[in-house]
Amino acid sequence: MIAKNKVVSLSYCLTNGGGEELDRADRENPFDYLHGSGQIVPGLERALEGMGVGDSKDVTLAPKDGYGELNPALKLKVGRSNFPKDMDIAPGMQFSADVGSGETHVFTVDRVEEEEIYIDGNHPLAGETLNFSVTVLDVREATQEEISHGHSHGEGGHHH
Ligand code: ZN
Repeated sequence: MIAKNKVVSLSYCLTNGGGEELDRADRENPFDYLHGSGQIVPGLERALEGMGVGDSKDVTLAPKDGYGELNPALKLKVGRSNFPKDMDIAPGMQFSADVGSGETHVFTVDRVEEEEIYIDGNHPLAGETLNFSVTVLDVREATQEEISHGHSHGEGGHHH
């Protein structure tokens, strides 16, 4: 059964509130994670708790249980002069920046104008309702190394 410090292998299909497919993992290319480590969104982790191999479930998560609400304060307009002169800035580019209090956010460039760059520090799926259709393919004990790293290793897991 899925519980803290188990490595879980899943197949899933993720769609948003509009029914648009956002992501999937299948049996041939499953998604692995370490349960209880915050590697996946909190609402999904809660819904999977106690499920066994072969079990399937449809889970709908409000934004707060997924990637969070859209935070308008993370949509910023910055002067081009804040970026290195020789940097070629294009929409879709990502970079991380300190937003104060030592917290780092990944920002995505939304729009580029002559003197101003519009950037967004929200997760691309922030504000989205998430529908997961999941099947548990495998559950095993995590190794000590995986527990100390806070993620799963091996096929489908974290590679160093
Ligand atoms: Zn590791």
